[in-house]
Amino acid sequence: MSRITFSHPQNQFFSTLSRNVDAYFRENKIKITGNKKLHSKAIFLISLLTVSYVALLTISPGWFSIMICILLGFNFAAIGFNVMHDGAHGSFSNKKWLNELAAYSLNLLGASSFLWKIKHNVVHHSFTNIEDIDDDIDIKPWMRVSKGQPKFWFHKFQHIYWVFLYGITYILWVFYLDFQKYFSRKIAVHEINKISKQEHLIFWASKMFYLVLFVALPISIVGWKFWLLGYLTTGFVTGLTISIVFQLAHVVEEVEFPIPNEANKIQSEWATHQIQTTADFATKNKFVSWYLGGLNFQVVHHLFPRISHIHYPKIQQIVKETCEQFQVPYFEFQTVGGAIKSHVKHLKNLRD
Ligand SMILES: [Zn+2]
Repeated sequence: MSRITFSHPQNQFFSTLSRNVDAYFRENKIKITGNKKLHSKAIFLISLLTVSYVALLTISPGWFSIMICILLGFNFAAIGFNVMHDGAHGSFSNKKWLNELAAYSLNLLGASSFLWKIKHNVVHHSFTNIEDIDDDIDIKPWMRVSKGQPKFWFHKFQHIYWVFLYGITYILWVFYLDFQKYFSRKIAVHEINKISKQEHLIFWASKMFYLVLFVALPISIVGWKFWLLGYLTTGFVTGLTISIVFQLAHVVEEVEFPIPNEANKIQSEWATHQIQTTADFATKNKFVSWYLGGLNFQVVHHLFPRISHIHYPKIQQIVKETCEQFQVPYFEFQTVGGAIKSHVKHLKNLRD
């Protein structure tokens, strides 16, 4: 693992902020994990997936099926945002087994929860936007998202072709990136120490289950041409949605891509680093907040990943007030459109 460290670990800002957040939960007598509202959302999303899947295999293929495939793509992404993500952070429920189950919903969608937990919880959350370590900003050589990355002639067009590239991310993840990590035992520079027998079994069994459920069975019922069209549609919508949501929080003009000094030290302390490398967007938009499972409140999420997203609107106020008190800049886009604009501008800035 990287030997990168952060400055001033005993920082007043984060200790005050943590105290204020703890006080909120204590005074209101609520748990930091998910509640019934979140659990019914999870049931709704999984039921919607089941209904869409059965519909696709029972109605005759046509325009209506394509509409369902688009809906299924958004549904896959929503399960990732709302169920898997909270589960992987242990914030979906106060019951360990339920968090595990929620995290494994990613395996149902074709990817490995085991590998994602390392990529996301260990690597991305600790070393956000640090070149060569944070695997989430590594789209090399296809895209250049930070100044430390090599430049190629085709980056001139990266503010245009990102749509296509993001669209294929999900399919690439399921059929290539997971296997690359699994066989190389590496996530960027981070080495995966050990994969238990149980995790090996779950990895292969769930990949097989996914292939049967979303490839073999549909092909045997609707034929390979309709399956391919439907699968690519669903996969493209899922990939584009999850990639955009990540990029709007970390790859925009307003955030930083800190470079460690010669001693491998980051100049800011950890909590300030999280705020400098992360942006919120459209947090007043009720639908966006519901659909994204609070991933538009990324600053709060990065500071308190073990708190369920259902609490983020309240916690955001506390974070904002404490940031103001300690003069730590906090950045937020008012709309999704504003954040997308900034992302495209960032890609343009890095093309030459
Ligand atoms: Zn997270």
